[in-house]
Amino acid sequence: MPAGSHTQRPPQIKPARVRAWLAAVADPEIPVLSIADLGILRDVQCRDGELVVVITPTYSGCPAMHAIEQAIEAELHRHGVESFQIHTRLAPPWSSDWITPAGRRKLFDYGIAPPAQSASGKRERPDGEPRLACPQCGSAHTTRISEFGSTACKALYRCGDCLEPFDYFKCI
Ligand SMILES: [Zn+2]
Repeated sequence: MPAGSHTQRPPQIKPARVRAWLAAVADPEIPVLSIADLGILRDVQCRDGELVVVITPTYSGCPAMHAIEQAIEAELHRHGVESFQIHTRLAPPWSSDWITPAGRRKLFDYGIAPPAQSASGKRERPDGEPRLACPQCGSAHTTRISEFGSTACKALYRCGDCLEPFDYFKCI
């Protein structure tokens, strides 16, 4: 631990503590999910005495990223942290595999089918549509009715049993 040059700084904030605060920041598009649930929050570090929050955007076209940065800023300000940086890490690209098990459950409870899990880098192909369970009734009798749902990140499906349409959070 370097001493001396940092003596006039406010007491060091522990990155783990900041991470716990930020884990509660809701995703602007799916408010039931936090940025930690989605795997957007990659890291909280202390670099040369400065707090650095590292995030990875989900879908590159998602306009929510700016809103997420603002939400992180607001949360840090709320805890009295004024000096920090938010770094965007683009490599490796975000993967829907990064959604935590708790996040997948919350998605399903919210009425959005979570992304089909890809095993060891094997990706869903456009012609290999995943078998999705309807988030309303659990039926596997579902069909895709549109490539794009309420946002570009989602596709629209319909259940053949309860006839309810639902969003599918696309696998990338
Ligand atoms: Zn159904």
